[in-house]
Amino acid sequence: MLRLVDAHVHLAYPDFAHDAASVVERAKAHGVAAALCVSVNHHDAPRVLELAAAHPEFAAPCLGIHPVQHEESGVPRPVRPEETAAMMVLLEKHADVLVAVGEIGLDYSPWILRGEDYRLKKLEPTAEIVTVESSTAASADPNERERIAKANQIAAFREQVLFAKAHGLPVNVHSRNAGKYVVEMLAELQADKVLLHAFDGSAAVAKRAVALGYCFSVPPNVVRSPHFQQVVATIPIENLLLETDAPALAPLPKPAAAAGADASAGDCCGAPASSSQADNVKAEEAVASQSGSSPATATTTATSSSSSSLASSSKGKGSSSGKASSKASKASAAPPLAFDDLVPPVPDPARNEPANVYLSAQAVARIKNIPVEEVVRITTANAIRIFPKLARLLA
Ligand SMILES: [Zn+2]
Repeated sequence: MLRLVDAHVHLAYPDFAHDAASVVERAKAHGVAAALCVSVNHHDAPRVLELAAAHPEFAAPCLGIHPVQHEESGVPRPVRPEETAAMMVLLEKHADVLVAVGEIGLDYSPWILRGEDYRLKKLEPTAEIVTVESSTAASADPNERERIAKANQIAAFREQVLFAKAHGLPVNVHSRNAGKYVVEMLAELQADKVLLHAFDGSAAVAKRAVALGYCFSVPPNVVRSPHFQQVVATIPIENLLLETDAPALAPLPKPAAAAGADASAGDCCGAPASSSQADNVKAEEAVASQSGSSPATATTTATSSSSSSLASSSKGKGSSSGKASSKASKASAAPPLAFDDLVPPVPDPARNEPANVYLSAQAVARIKNIPVEEVVRITTANAIRIFPKLARLLA
């Protein structure tokens, strides 16, 4: 029997308010044994604890404040000190029941840092340009707004990482346009149990994170994201976990109309749904420009160059990572991998659910060229290593 772990999910989001129990049952029916349920602020944290109490055999609670918060209107902005303070009260109060601290991190996306009439790119050709009003700070100077935004995010991240260390807890980390700074801060603070979820950073930063023993989790939109496919190809399997980030990062993109309606609510990564997609495009373009190819062919080209550069860091571990890396290298000579036959086992493919974590496992198996059962076994063992309290749920 499969025993998958969803290492990062927002089951406390309103998207699941009416059917959380059936979403949990559907996940179990598709082999998901446990899910790390993260919060983004003190508003959804109580619901995370409620879900963990209602499904103690499945939902592992993680509390933390996300670097990006939203105005009532849905406009995203950087976290404020008083919000961090409110989260620290909750963390102190509930430390004993937590499996990890998260979702925490840094988000240096320009529309978050500068908050000024930033034009969000949209994938849908018919969608209108969205303008985001400033809400970062009273300052009219965008440079000053950026300085304050970074300072507030760094303070929140630092305080929560130090809290996690003091309580022996792992961290479940968001980084967007800030991979280098996140990894350096974690290294400086000597965090040891680290999950970098839906990582959008460069291969060089990923290599540094692997050397530090950090892990990466793979979301189901890996089936349509050359960037995440490259991440899977370059990271040793001993450093990979699976996640959904549900309801965001679905295997299929939202229809244009639904994405527009959703943009005000924002996704769990702190940006409107449309900008999340735009960011993927940016990452894909970066991969393509590094490898000198188009996004459509970037996977294989990038695999051959960066998996060899990361292979040296996994040498000497004496495990299957070397085998997986060499197989991945061999696979890089083959035509681009296709994922079209992987079918999401959920009623609405545009709303991500923990059951989709099996898709991540299938995609990783295909990219690493190893059986899916191996992927499940290794990633679940990795999850228990990073989040030791999961062992209780998986016993
Ligand atoms: Zn998230």
